[in-house]
This record gives sequence, C-alpha cells and structure tokens, in this order.
Amino acid sequence: MRILVFNAGSSSLKFGVFDLAPGDTLAQARQIFKGSFDRFGPEGCDFSMGGQRGRAPHQSLDAAIRAVPEALGGVDGITAIGHRIAHGGDAFAGPSQITPEIRAQIDALTPLAPLHNPANLAALDLACEIWPELPQWAVFDTSFHLTNPARATTYAVPAAWREAGLRRYGFHGTSHKYVAQRAAEELRQELRALRVLSLHLGNGASACAVAFGKSIDSSMGMTPLEGLVMGTRSGDVDPGLFGYLERQLGLSIAEIEATLYRESGLKGLTGSSDMRDVEARAAEGDAEAQLAIHIYAYRARKYIGAYAAAMGGLDALVFTGGIGENSPSMRRRICDGLEFMGLKLDHDRNLAVDLTGRAAPQIQAYGARVNVLVTETAEQLMIAHEVAARIGGQDKSAMRVPVAVSARHVHLCARAVEALFGKGYALTPDKPLRQKGHWAARERVTLHGPKGEIANVAILGPLRARTQVEISRTDSFALGIDAPVRQSGMLEGTPHIRLIGPAGQFDTDGLIIASRHIHMNSADARDWGLTDGDMVDVSLDHTGRGLTFTGVLVRVADNAHTEMHIDTDEANAAGITCDVEGELCTDLLHAHV
Ligand code: ADP
Repeated sequence: MRILVFNAGSSSLKFGVFDLAPGDTLAQARQIFKGSFDRFGPEGCDFSMGGQRGRAPHQSLDAAIRAVPEALGGVDGITAIGHRIAHGGDAFAGPSQITPEIRAQIDALTPLAPLHNPANLAALDLACEIWPELPQWAVFDTSFHLTNPARATTYAVPAAWREAGLRRYGFHGTSHKYVAQRAAEELRQELRALRVLSLHLGNGASACAVAFGKSIDSSMGMTPLEGLVMGTRSGDVDPGLFGYLERQLGLSIAEIEATLYRESGLKGLTGSSDMRDVEARAAEGDAEAQLAIHIYAYRARKYIGAYAAAMGGLDALVFTGGIGENSPSMRRRICDGLEFMGLKLDHDRNLAVDLTGRAAPQIQAYGARVNVLVTETAEQLMIAHEVAARIGGQDKSAMRVPVAVSARHVHLCARAVEALFGKGYALTPDKPLRQKGHWAARERVTLHGPKGEIANVAILGPLRARTQVEISRTDSFALGIDAPVRQSGMLEGTPHIRLIGPAGQFDTDGLIIASRHIHMNSADARDWGLTDGDMVDVSLDHTGRGLTFTGVLVRVADNAHTEMHIDTDEANAAGITCDVEGELCTDLLHAHV
C-alpha cells in the first residue's frame, strides 16, 4: 500500500510517499517521493523535491499543502495519509484514525504543545479537505514513551498539580523508536535483547533510554523544553529562575517561557542556533562558541551516564539528527572520557561516517563493550510503517487467548539446588504445568530481602543454567528490593536476592518482575500473522475490572501451549478470579520490536 506522510511545523512542511505492506520490516519499505517546503515568507519559500531545490511562490504552510497534489504529479494509488502530531498526551498509545472526536481530543492537547500541535492540526485539516476520500491517521511523538514507568514520568510536586496534568511525556518518540530499531537491525540482534540509548541531536534534541525494546525514560518532559541543550531551547534549568527573573528583571511568566523556547540554547549562548556556525566560530577562537560546545557535549554526556544507570548497563549508543549525523567532532566530544563504561570511539570510523542508503555505520573502537552507531532518523518512514501496520490489523477478526496467572516462583540452577537442599539432591516433580515438560516441584524456598521474607515460594522445573526469581511489584516492596520488569532470561544487571532452603542459602542475581507475555505455538502464530518478538495488546474487557494490557510480548515456539501469562498484581488489577480469555488487538503497532 502507499502512504502519504506529512510532517508540518510552523515554518516548514516535509512530506513523502512510501510503498510498503503490513508486516514489512523497516528496510523493506520504499520511499517513492520526497519533498519539503520551508522558510515561508512574503517572497515565497524554499523547496526541495525529488533531488531538486529552488524557490516556490508559497507564502504559508496553507498554500504549500494545497500545492502538494500537483507536486506529487504521477504518484497515484495512495491508500492513507499519516500525520506527525507532536503531543498525544496520555490518551494516544499508538496511531489513531482521525474522526471528529479524535481531532477534538488532539485540539484539547494544544496547551501542552502550543507551538507544535496547532501546525500539525492545520496540515491535518487541509489534508482532510483536499483528500476527503482517504483515511487520515495521526501518529504521535509521545506514544513511544507511554511505556515509561511512573518513577520516570512523575514530577515531585503536589497532588493537585499532578491531577491538573503535570507529568513528563517525552517527545521525538517516532525518531527514537526508528533509530533504536535500525540499530538493532544493524547489530543483527533483537531490540528486545538490547539496552539502547538514542541521542537525537537536531534543532530540537533529546535522549531516550530504550531498555529491551521499550522506552523507559526520555530527556524531554511535559513539554519539549526539558533536557538537552537545543538550537533555541534551554533544556534543563532550575525552575527557581521564574521567581528570580520576575523579581530582578520584572519579566512575566510568558516572557520567560518564550525566551526559554526561542532565545536560549545555542542561540542564547552564542547568538546562533546553528551548530555549523557555532563550530566554525569556536574553531576561530570565539570563547562564547567554545563554551556553548562544552555545555552542549557535557549535558549530553551526563544523560548517557544517567540512562546507562537507569537501564543497568548500555549495549548501544545511537546518534541521529542533524548534529548527531553530521558532526564527528560533537560525537567525539560527547563520547570522550566514557571509556570507564566500555564506550570508546574509533576515530577514523567516526570521521568516515557515510549515511547514504539508510546506512547505520558502527563507529566504536575494536573491542569496546558499547556499540556506537550513527543513522539518519526516518520519522516519516516510521509513520508510514505504523499506519500500514494499523490498516493491516484492521482487517483481522478477533483472536482470543487463554490467560493464566503466574504466582511468584523461582527457576533454579543446579548449584542453587545443592546449596538449598544439599549435595546431590534432586527436586521432586509434583504437578505438571501446561507448557510441555514443565512442572512445579514439591519443595519450596524462602525469599529473603532487606525489608522482609516471603516463605513457601514455588520452584518450577526443569533446572535452568541460571537461577531466576519472578515476583510481583507488591512482593518487591515486601522484600525491599527494586526488581525490574524483564523478559524471562534477560537477567543482566538484575538485583541480588537471598534464597533460603532447608540445607542452606543461595545468594544470586536474577530477581525480576516478568513482563507480560504470550507463549504461542507456531501454528497459532502463523494463523494469526504473528512472529516471535511481536508486541500486541490484549483486552480483558469482559473481566471484573476490565482493562487492556499493552506491550504483551509474543514468544513463539513449536510445541508451546498458547497462553498469556500475567502476574498476580496484573490479575488483581483486572479483577480476574478464574480462567478467562483475552482478546488480541491485532494492531501490529509494536511489531518486530
Ligand atoms: P530538525 O530538528 O529541525 O529536523 P535537523 O535534524 O536538521 O533539525 O538538525 C539541525 C541542526 O544540525 C543544526 O544545528 C545544524 O547546524 C546541524 N548540522 C547540520 N549539518 C551539520 C554539520 N555538518 N556539522 C555540524 N552541525 C550540523
């Protein structure tokens, strides 16, 4: 299918047409048209179209959009239109087809993105007028970050403010999602097995921690003002400056806010928001420009440290955006001094970066533990990909899957069995489980944490190479240990716990809250058009406290018994008291993550 994508800002319009099928990988999508209009003014605007550049008479975004049908010329067969929308609040976890209600909901979010959402909506309204017969979809910059945990999204402010909507959202989600996925493709690994830090350094700039396929934190906050130093935006500042500037300089809140958005960042430090100018001036000895570069790199480096800590390690760092893609010296400044964490550049590779043909070259030094990549961001392609996946998903009929509740349990390695039950001891299989060859043992263990103990915890066999302890969030508070949400087997950097058995104790890492998942046999997966690693949503609307679980990982195996596993906290949240079935929402929104 062919998807036309619009990315409209206040002073530019980028658009493209992509040819792809639902379920295609990013690499399989073909861009068949690319265009942009920017720098609108009374004399017209600049354009770039199919490799040609020049001047066009359009004085506004409105006029430019009306010119798109002619610009597209012979490109026909468009199935749908996708629009980039900056702010989706917490209402939009994925792409949404535009209806009057959805449009009104987006409009209502304007106070959260006063510069961006109105321009996005203006493009959307015009596209609806020009192509009334085509479905129009909104794809939100914030959606990817809706997986961020509350600890990352909550500001430490009074409840009344939080209830009024104050929280961190994060932006550039489409870009971060694309580059993280592109990096995983390049590394020939599953994104869900990697801890990736994406650094989008353009006019706007943000860092995003993508841990095992999900965004867990991002440097932009409630608005796109927080975080890194940007072209004209300040990034992190002390909110105390509002009172100080009001008292000392007599500035109003609106004036301070406008200055933080439009007159700060590189522009505030040097007078120019363009990194090329700043770098050129710094090289000529301009002290202001040199300081700006130091601040820019230092802030980015601090976020690398912070997010490596947040993810419990780092497997790949990806640079993107105009500066990330084009400035080898800024990449080097940001990375220098991080050898202590296994991050080291190869300076020749860093200088030789060539991004033609959607390349994603690796520039880490030989033997460095952290991979460093550079790639162009392809937000429009990602938007087309998400819209195509949604349209493909709409055709499928409902699929139902049994839901089982996993109470806390442990999987033991041979060493743990000996330490807990004595040398040469073999566990006694008691009850068979539904997954073939798996059983619950008659023996039990006690979990010991700094806050408390949990006795009588089930042991599931057969033995594994590494001990893994699966608890609920509630259990983690009872024990006093902060367990991360992880897929089974992804144990690197997980916290330690003490297990106690009749013959002794065993201290081990491997304490996790299992991320919700579906075991699926290959035949069902084939029938339902799913592959190992897909993420789906599962709705339990018919249960006591109906809810939809998002981001459910599909794990396909030939002999698996198809069944979804959730933990006791999740079951309680959904009010599940007996065996139930969930309905798979077949948008492949998170497919191939
Ligand atoms: P946007 O966020 O508006 O899409 P871009 O991703 O195009 O912006 O990034 C624009 C930034 O990239 C500008 O600061 C520009 O100076 C910088 N940039 C582009 N090319 C280079 C280069 N060769 N060296 C340093 N900075 C560059």
